[in-house]
Amino acid sequence: MKLIIASNNNGKVREYRQLLAECGFDEVLSLKDAGIKCDPDETGTTFEENAAIKAGALRQLCDCAVLADDSGLMVDALGGEPGVYSARWLGLDSDEKKNAEIIRRLEGVEDDKRTARFVCVIHFIYPDGREVTAKGVCEGIIGHKPQGENGFGYDPIFMYGNRSFAEIGADEKNNVSHRGNALRELVMKLKG
Ligand code: IMP
Repeated sequence: MKLIIASNNNGKVREYRQLLAECGFDEVLSLKDAGIKCDPDETGTTFEENAAIKAGALRQLCDCAVLADDSGLMVDALGGEPGVYSARWLGLDSDEKKNAEIIRRLEGVEDDKRTARFVCVIHFIYPDGREVTAKGVCEGIIGHKPQGENGFGYDPIFMYGNRSFAEIGADEKNNVSHRGNALRELVMKLKG
C-alpha cells in the first residue's frame, strides 16, 4: 500500500518507512519523491491541530494514505515555549540562536526547575478518509550549554540523563524519543 509523508526530511521519512513496512506500507514516499508541493500555514495552537492541518492539506492532493506530524520542545520554566512555535521561535533564524536564547532565559534556574519535554503528534489518514492519531513524549531537562554534534534542532541542549540528545546515537534516540514513541503507538493502532 502506498503512503505519502508530509515532509521532505529524509531522516524522518526513512524512520517512518522502516517501522511502517510491518503495517503493509511497501511504498513510503516523501513529498519530493511523490512530486507534490504542499506547505499549508500551520495556524493551529496545538501539535494536534497542526498535524491535522498538514495531513488534511496533503489528503486534498492525493488519493492514497497520508501522514503528517508536528513536534517541538516544551520548556516548563518558559510556560511551555517554544512549543508549537519550535521551528520559528521568536523569528530566530538558526538552531544555535534558539538554543542560546533558551539557555540565557534559564540562567540561574536550578536543575529541578529546568524540566522540558519533546512532543510529537502524528496524524494519519487512510485512503477511505478514516483518521488515526498518535502522540509521543520524551522527558528531559535543559542543559547549561549546548553539547554534542549528532543531532539537530534543540538536541544539543536537551539532556536525557547525563547526555544530550546530540550525544546519543540515532538508534538509541529512536528508542526513547517523542517521534519514536508516537510512531510505535501509531503502528500499534494501525495493526489494530
Ligand atoms: P516539525 O515538527 O518538523 O515542524 O519540527 C518542529 C521543530 O521542533 C523543529 O524545527 C525542531 O526545531 C524541533 N524539534 C522537533 N523534534 C526535534 C528533535 O527530535 N530534536 C531537536 N529538535 C526537534
